[in-house]
Amino acid sequence: MKAIILLGAPGVGKGTVAEAIRDTMGLTHLSTGDMLRAAVKAATPVGLKAESFMKRGELVPDEVILALVFDRIDRDGKDSAFLFDGFPRTSEQAKLLDEGLARREGAVDRVVLLEAPRDLCIERLCGRLTCRKCAAIYHARNHPPKNPGRCDLCGGEVVTRPDDKRETIENRLDVFKRQTEGLIALYDGRGLLARVNSAQPKEKTIADTLRALGGSK
Ligand code: AMP
Repeated sequence: MKAIILLGAPGVGKGTVAEAIRDTMGLTHLSTGDMLRAAVKAATPVGLKAESFMKRGELVPDEVILALVFDRIDRDGKDSAFLFDGFPRTSEQAKLLDEGLARREGAVDRVVLLEAPRDLCIERLCGRLTCRKCAAIYHARNHPPKNPGRCDLCGGEVVTRPDDKRETIENRLDVFKRQTEGLIALYDGRGLLARVNSAQPKEKTIADTLRALGGSK
């Protein structure tokens, strides 16, 4: 089983890059944020447990996340190649991911770290719009949907995520620094990390990511 991780602060562009490269590279996109939002919308037991953490911009407990991830991995089968977006986010999640992959004869193959200054991440998140149905990402100013409020891809409702509010955004960035940033050194130490500047235009970031993953362009 192949596993690629997109690592980076909220607003750095993980979702946008994942959307753009998953088909080109034949990867199964696994976004824990999207899975949790779907669970909240459907009011499942996981959704009910996760909602208050998400509203505050705090991390959902590791055991909830790991159950969600491995359930999905096992449903997709062990021949899939996964693109993890927003996971792992703690060193415990990284450890449990390694163990879970090893049990399925897999390992983390490559980690792409997307980097952009904090101010730019805040600006992107403040204007971000997300499709409630297919999770496509837009921006109120830089990339609005063609029909206001409707997704170009599926016609679903395009909304501001409840956690894309200024105070919550600041907290999510602080949480990244406190709980996730340590993973950079972890994967760098294992020789798996590639750094990509995601403060550049979207097309350039996507091309650099593909190159870092050996997917040409
Ligand atoms: P995201 O869509 O990746 O920005 O995630 C939105 C929110 O979902 C986060 O602020 C967390 O509350 C929760 N979340 C997503 N992925 C994880 C994860 N791997 N571990 C813990 N919480 C997560």
